[in-house]
Amino acid sequence: MEEKDIEVFHVGKPLSKEEVEKFVHANKLEYTKGYYIDNEGNTYCPTCLSKNSLLMIEGCISCKTCGWSKCS
Ligand SMILES: [Zn+2]
Repeated sequence: MEEKDIEVFHVGKPLSKEEVEKFVHANKLEYTKGYYIDNEGNTYCPTCLSKNSLLMIEGCISCKTCGWSKCS
C-alpha cells in the first residue's frame, strides 16, 4: 500500500465548496443519495464532512454534527 498525504480538515462545521471537493477527491468519496460514501461504506456529511454522523430522522438523512438535512 502506498502512503498518501490526506489533508485533514476540522470537521463539524460547514466547509467551503472548495474544501469539500478537495476532501472528496483526496479520499475518493462517491456522491450518492445526497451524501458522500467511501469504499468501506463510511458515510460523510455533504456539508461538514463528519464521518458517520448521518442519521435517518423522520425519513430524512440528517447530520447530527452540523444539523444538515437532506429534506430541508
Ligand atoms: Zn454535517
